[in-house]
Amino acid sequence: MTWSRSTTTNKHNAKASYWCLNCAREMQKVGKKRPVCSEAGHKVFYFRSKKERDHWHELRIEQMAGIIRNLEVGPVYPIVVDGHKCGNMLLDFSYFRGDKLVVEDVKPARGADMNGARGQLFRLHCKLMLAIYGIHVEVV
Ligand SMILES: [Zn+2]
Repeated sequence: MTWSRSTTTNKHNAKASYWCLNCAREMQKVGKKRPVCSEAGHKVFYFRSKKERDHWHELRIEQMAGIIRNLEVGPVYPIVVDGHKCGNMLLDFSYFRGDKLVVEDVKPARGADMNGARGQLFRLHCKLMLAIYGIHVEVV
């Protein structure tokens, strides 16, 4: 069970974009290939929505101002129960605010896709994150 980053289902993908996380620059897709930055070692990330991208910009500014640190985009948490690997929880952001680890997932306004099966799965994963890691996933 993987909380998949489905690219097929929702209307919010209309504003999806690729960004170099190091240069903070939007990358244009050429043909069907995932864009790469000309600088070696730079990480290009696919933001699924404008809201997700805008939130990243805010967090970057907070990090540059020294308000938060260790900002990670797209952190992955393995879900392991009694030695059984059950899947991965893919989240949007993690960072430290003071000593506190903050883990966030960006959802569309008004929680449009929080009803139904996807929302149920997301809530289950959040409970597992709490049970396994003691991390409360904050919905942005
Ligand atoms: Zn770059």
